[in-house]
Amino acid sequence: MSSWMFTYEGFDPENEKLREALCTLGNGYFATRGAAAESDANGTHYPGTYLAGGYNRLKTEIAGHVIENEDLVNLPNWLPVRFRLPRSQWFDLTEVTIHSYRQELDIRNGVLQRFVRFEDSQGRICVLRTRRIVHMAYPHLAAQQTTLTAENWSGPIQFMSALDGTVINDGVPRYRKLNSRHLLPLETKEIDAERLLLKVKTTQSKLEIAEAARTIALLNGQKITPERTCFEESGYIAHMFDVNLEQGDEVSVEKTVALYTSRDHATSESALDAARAVSGETSFENLLQSHTATWERLWRRFEINFYPRSESDSNRTSEILHLYTFHLLQTTSLHTMDLDVGVPSRGWHGEAYRGHIFWDEIYIFPLLNLRMPEITRSLLMYRYRRLDAAREAAEKAGYQGAMYPWQSGSNGREESQLLHLNPKSGRWIPDNSSLQRHVNAAIAYNIWQYYQVTNDLEFMSFYGGEMFFEIARFWASISTWNPQKNRYEILGVMGPDEYHDSYPWSDKPGLNNNAYTNVMAVWILNRGLELKHILSEPEYDQLTERISLKEEEMDLWEDIASKMYIPFHGDGIISQFEGYEQLEEFDWEGYRKKYDDIQRLDRVLEAEGNTPNTYKASKQADVLMLFYLFSSDELREIFEELGYDFRYETIPDNIEYYLNRTSHGSTLSRVVHAWVLSRANRRQSWQFFKEALESDVADIQGGTTPEGIHLGAMAGTADILQRAYTGLEARGDILRFNPALPEELGRLHMHIRYRGHALSIDITPEELTVKDLLTTAGSIRVAVRDEIFELPAGGGKTLTVTLER
Ligand code: BGC
Repeated sequence: MSSWMFTYEGFDPENEKLREALCTLGNGYFATRGAAAESDANGTHYPGTYLAGGYNRLKTEIAGHVIENEDLVNLPNWLPVRFRLPRSQWFDLTEVTIHSYRQELDIRNGVLQRFVRFEDSQGRICVLRTRRIVHMAYPHLAAQQTTLTAENWSGPIQFMSALDGTVINDGVPRYRKLNSRHLLPLETKEIDAERLLLKVKTTQSKLEIAEAARTIALLNGQKITPERTCFEESGYIAHMFDVNLEQGDEVSVEKTVALYTSRDHATSESALDAARAVSGETSFENLLQSHTATWERLWRRFEINFYPRSESDSNRTSEILHLYTFHLLQTTSLHTMDLDVGVPSRGWHGEAYRGHIFWDEIYIFPLLNLRMPEITRSLLMYRYRRLDAAREAAEKAGYQGAMYPWQSGSNGREESQLLHLNPKSGRWIPDNSSLQRHVNAAIAYNIWQYYQVTNDLEFMSFYGGEMFFEIARFWASISTWNPQKNRYEILGVMGPDEYHDSYPWSDKPGLNNNAYTNVMAVWILNRGLELKHILSEPEYDQLTERISLKEEEMDLWEDIASKMYIPFHGDGIISQFEGYEQLEEFDWEGYRKKYDDIQRLDRVLEAEGNTPNTYKASKQADVLMLFYLFSSDELREIFEELGYDFRYETIPDNIEYYLNRTSHGSTLSRVVHAWVLSRANRRQSWQFFKEALESDVADIQGGTTPEGIHLGAMAGTADILQRAYTGLEARGDILRFNPALPEELGRLHMHIRYRGHALSIDITPEELTVKDLLTTAGSIRVAVRDEIFELPAGGGKTLTVTLER
């Protein structure tokens, strides 16, 4: 069971913010960092609460420019439960002697608990136990229990339970020069002796947020009703009460909180609904029961059982995998399905990247697709609702179709910042990252994958197809014909590697013919043509009529898809972009000696007055993304249709070439490298997998995780087990397996959903078993390596295939 318990021993102020991020509790509707109930935002703690999609915009003047940023708003802090012993200050961990301290995140049940035994300056010893949940069955509810035992003293203890709306966005030091006051106080109210209400509003998006809290006290398990006083000031309200303790007594304070906003469904007025939600007599234990039962059901679908060959360190791998899946489910859950939100790259766990939605979905969706595709569908609907904004953006830039933003927030406009701060140099630097048009490829790719796994033709006819065609249109219109090359090209973009945003010899941002982008464009145009045959004729006709898509446009797609330019250099090395070979080699060894950490080489070089644009040095996988997203068969097909010679033997050469020129400045990079090496070099792949696993738990980027988790790396790492080592692929109406377990992996077991079938998958180095547990659909085809099998409608069939080494 211990691989379900994420434990910290001892209080470690230096790493407290990292713990808070990793111990965040959430339910897909809102999330609260794992800060202690008595903590304030300061150098050690950052108690933040965030609503999924709870954005607000603020303007700031920086370096002579007025810039506007859309932030994920830190909502009123519902956590505060403070206490003080007679004749002393409010409890503060740094003011007492800590005899023992343990913090546990019970991943299986979604409970955060802390055990502290401390002694104050007057020799009074207390045992403190806190438990907290953010409810997985009731999305508006959270609860916290604080239990204190007076070990060697008697006397009155004073408690304070508060709702604090005076908070600002202060979680990311490099954003501190930007305006950060997003909340306006609206109302505070003592509803009755147990309940308090606080209401605030965001300054620009005008979102009203109401929090109601019910706080009760129990002495040795019996409810008591101490006299309360209420303290109120603008944006803040608290209840205070005393409890008399005899030596050995145990007092518990239970706080149940409801959070509602003016954007919720099935509500009248947020304050009314919040107050009503905490009006019952429900105890912490009762809430806990329904909460853990919901988690249990989630784990039945999402757990990936991983059995190592040797027992050493197996527990840590399982524990981290559980933790990462836990955070995925806390960011996107059944409750997200009813919201109009996307999946944020940093979770709803902190303020880094402002809760924005990037291309990281491409790493996150595969776990959801194969387990709860309903969630993916709702996340794709977030994109669909912003299709018009993407159309407008394309038109404004002189293109056709839909051009989605690199960073997306509330209404689908481009939210990438125009300037960013290099904390190493203190300089504000123009940010060209919005030239990463490949986000459009990711969205189309994700639509296709969702369809492949679910066969959800309704979605394709009503929404997916329209987005897909509009994105294909965009790629066709951004492609230009080069008569000298006799090929199409895509100019002035950025690839996934964010270190390169222009040529060192040019003032203009953008690069030409980023290989990844060009191949993705070709793949999308080809799938766009295929979609014509997937949709039924009347649906296809209606859709194309609605968006005025003409046959001639599709003829052009076909032409582009067979004549796109892909740059190469050396012997079969795909150039990251045209002209890449002219860049200088980077002195990796020298810089590794000079600096402790060169993951963020861009910042290191900028601080030196230099730029990575000069060098063959990448932040993350770029060309290698191709081997991540496509099987070698599929890639060969693409290159052959383009008239390029593609030899399998050059795959390891490309991997080695770019691996030697990448700093892994993004946590996504190790995921891709573990993946692409899974066939070429299993040992090295496993090393990258283990490093990717450490991304957040060990905060390997040195300070980024406290500001928010890296959900792409978290989900992507679990997906390496799910798909890379199993060779699982949903392509061409067939569910394919081509297992290549690394030496270290003895067995893998998981449940997946595929086109209405619930499948139990078991893989050892010797054997693959697929059990069809439940079916709500017709027959499916499953391929193991080159052999194809049919699983009929009705379920019940078990397929066992011996794997030749
Ligand atoms: C990476 C991007 C990623 C973003 C959000 C950046 O550091 O380079 O690829 O989308 O973080 O996770």
